[in-house]
Amino acid sequence: MLNRWNDQDAAHYTTDLALRVYTSRLLGQDRSLVLHGGGNTSVKVTETNLVGEEEEILYVKGSGWDLETIEEAGFAPVRMAHLLKLARLDRLTDPQMVNELKTSMTLASAPSPSVETILHAVLPYKYVDHTHADAVVTITNSHNGLARIREIYVEDMVIIPYVMPGFDLARLCAEHFASEATEKTVGMILMNHGIFSFGETAKESYDLMIKLVARAEDYLKANKAWVLPSQKATTTIKPLRGEISRLRREISAVAGFPMLLSCDMTPTCLSFAQREDIATLSQQGPATPDHVIRTKRLPLLGRDIAGYATAYQNYFEENSAQATDEKTMLDPAPRIVLDPELGLCSLGRHARECTIINDIYRHTQEIIQRATLLGGYQTLPAHDIFAVEYWDLEQAKLRKGGNPPQFSGEVALVTGAASGIGKASVDALLERGAAVVGLDIDAGIEQLYQRPDFLGLVCDVADEEQITQALESTVRHFGGVDMLILNAGIFPESCRIDALATETWRKVLGINLDANLILMRECYPLLKLAPAGGRVVIIGSKNVPAPGPGAAAYSASKAALNQLARIAAMEWGSDGIRINSLHPEAVFDTALWTDDILRSRATHYNLTVEAYKRKNLMHVEICSRDVANLAAEMCGPLFAKTTAAQVPVDGGNDRVI
Ligand code: ZN
Repeated sequence: MLNRWNDQDAAHYTTDLALRVYTSRLLGQDRSLVLHGGGNTSVKVTETNLVGEEEEILYVKGSGWDLETIEEAGFAPVRMAHLLKLARLDRLTDPQMVNELKTSMTLASAPSPSVETILHAVLPYKYVDHTHADAVVTITNSHNGLARIREIYVEDMVIIPYVMPGFDLARLCAEHFASEATEKTVGMILMNHGIFSFGETAKESYDLMIKLVARAEDYLKANKAWVLPSQKATTTIKPLRGEISRLRREISAVAGFPMLLSCDMTPTCLSFAQREDIATLSQQGPATPDHVIRTKRLPLLGRDIAGYATAYQNYFEENSAQATDEKTMLDPAPRIVLDPELGLCSLGRHARECTIINDIYRHTQEIIQRATLLGGYQTLPAHDIFAVEYWDLEQAKLRKGGNPPQFSGEVALVTGAASGIGKASVDALLERGAAVVGLDIDAGIEQLYQRPDFLGLVCDVADEEQITQALESTVRHFGGVDMLILNAGIFPESCRIDALATETWRKVLGINLDANLILMRECYPLLKLAPAGGRVVIIGSKNVPAPGPGAAAYSASKAALNQLARIAAMEWGSDGIRINSLHPEAVFDTALWTDDILRSRATHYNLTVEAYKRKNLMHVEICSRDVANLAAEMCGPLFAKTTAAQVPVDGGNDRVI
């Protein structure tokens, strides 16, 4: 365990709360302690209120904040006096608890206090740190876990049997603490959940967390349960995009909405999925109930989605029958698939969710394998996991996001995505919630955006091999292709037919026409499997209805592409794939148009650059963004029943009209 405390850094944090921020972030930086919103911390301070009274305030992590990036504003200030009175009640329902916590804050704009707030309040220490450390949950989830935990911690830790987080857990801890704590006590273990450390200073509590978790790691090392078995993973060479798209389609159908599917085929994940005992190992349950809300109780092993959905329904029916209140079943689709060919697949409605699920399960794989080495992985019974999965407070957290954006769970592929209309299309689709893959011959595409819902791939669309490679990567990364924006194209220098070189003609047709045929052909089987129907948008040109002299190759290529789209509409309509075209004119904010070219064109027409840009019936300037927004909308519900449409984006052109 690395202790990340640094005196120089810490010196910048001068107040109790600031130091609370500092060590909370240190905990958050260590993924073996805290993952995505897990864990919580607090500090108790005395403050003078507006009417001059001194009050003891508990600053506790607010919901929606991650320890790794938390700020002072991420802590909710709650009045201690009231919390301690609440802790003495016999009963407090969840809605009552949430109400009391919120109404006992001293700052109305603060985030909602953690559900573990009362627990933090009853622990008689200034600083309290809580994590779901991997090493600790590995041992609590092992055969004979309690005996092992006693062996490691009984001297200076209070050990609490598993109870779901909330008021009952806080009361139980208070009782155990009153009877079992001694002057030696420095922390607390919650079985099948995590660990607490305490201190009078931020440093003391943080140091203890590191030291106490290190003890669990040392125990695993001493018991030959630390080094993971090295296994050779078998990697599949054949293309997998068809199978992956089908799997995603079937899971989305069970979920009732489109989902992204991201395959992690690194050797660690492949070898885990290929273990002979995977059926036993993977079907026990999550390492800590904290994970269940993201991952569901169990991963799907293999590809029997119908079987998974039935099993989930049974799990719901059996457990909800014993619940005191009415429960509504969540969608029965898995969030994790373990497959010997596809490795670890994570499913979510947003790429960020897939990343989180992947992270959680990569840690779970380690926990499971170490617990197995220690004598067997053993988790809480299903009804305890169910209680957390269907806990109103957890459900409320998930629902808080409101309605998902338009293209949630969907994948768009944009060609020529590094600049101009292509880049604007990437932006328009990202804004509407799609995961976007951008292809471009320009290597800058890889660095266009650093965010989980964007993947930039260098690809020369004139090269068939590169196209199939890009599609394979796209599908492994996001699970399929639902929307295809065919934008890449070239506009050669003006040249009359009598001087047009065969080579130029072929090059223009190769990129503007042939490449799009190959893309359409190769994407067709994927578009057919799009959970919400496939969509293609062609960035055409005003030159289709109104060609100009000197642009033979360009105009012919765009006209042929236009005809190709019309035929695709006929052939693919019954597959639920719609294809529509846009005919932009005079979009000057693209790489094609330098200031010099603009000036010379304007002079040619005896116009100023400004007037030249607005040389249309409405006298408006057409921007990449205008074209991109319409392209994105053509993939949305407005065009749900339209195919083979050709829409001008030109401010009005009398030759087109
Ligand atoms: Zn916890």
